[in-house]
Amino acid sequence: MTSRIDRPILISACLAGIDCTYRGKNKLKPSIKKMADDGIAIPVCPEVMGGLGIPRENSEIVGGDGMDVLKRRARVITISGKDVTEIYIKGAKAVLAIARIYSVRKAILKSKSPACGVGRIYDGSFTKKLKNGSGVTASLLCQKGVKVYSA
Ligand code: SF4
Repeated sequence: MTSRIDRPILISACLAGIDCTYRGKNKLKPSIKKMADDGIAIPVCPEVMGGLGIPRENSEIVGGDGMDVLKRRARVITISGKDVTEIYIKGAKAVLAIARIYSVRKAILKSKSPACGVGRIYDGSFTKKLKNGSGVTASLLCQKGVKVYSA
């Protein structure tokens, strides 16, 4: 029989208290950190895993959502106008690789992020407005059969 430990869930690293947001801060949710502490959740930060540093420029998806980015129909752009689309795709693929290694079926991801957001993300105007859609990593995981939840 497969135990719970054999199938960990993925969590956004910032929710586990890791200082990996673009500002170099975290978005700690104690209940989610406890899952990592208990060994049943794996923290991942797709922006950093794609190659971005801490801190880094704020980015948003312009021209669509994460699924559009994966299809190269939308871009991820930093607030100064740098195109970081391929970095976001690389990070999403790195997270997916971990999901496959551990047979992950579920992920709890940080809301609104252009990588981790589930269902609602910032709209690309850098004015804190939201639009429907998920981030690049959330979209890829969902596409590959991982259930993604927002926190
Ligand atoms: S929301 Fe996702 S990409 Fe952004 S800091 Fe948290 S884990 Fe990293």
